[in-house]
Amino acid sequence: MSFLSTLYNVNSIILEMKKLETCHHCGKQKENCYHGFIALTIPHPEWEEKLDRWGRKDWWKNLERTDLSEDQMKELDEICMYDQALNTVGRGIQCDDCGRKEAELYEKYYPKDLQN
Ligand SMILES: [Zn+2]
Repeated sequence: MSFLSTLYNVNSIILEMKKLETCHHCGKQKENCYHGFIALTIPHPEWEEKLDRWGRKDWWKNLERTDLSEDQMKELDEICMYDQALNTVGRGIQCDDCGRKEAELYEKYYPKDLQN
């Protein structure tokens, strides 16, 4: 192998490592992204607050109520979509920062001992 081709190989490895990809969660260009199955969204504090306001365990029961205002129904609809996005997994790309943030937020809003 010539000196030049060695150099070229080293450079391409560095380039490979620094390859920027768009994270599906924050939309930023990042290095070292994870490729695999990720949720459509990571937990959002503002939505988790709304979930808490409606009742974390039985917020969905409010969907059947008939005494709510249009705004309240709209908010419940949006919570529905948020909840679905949170529980829908698909192939995607996630950066390291979002991975860490996601783990933190799950720890905060969905502690394991409360599940099931
Ligand atoms: Zn990200």
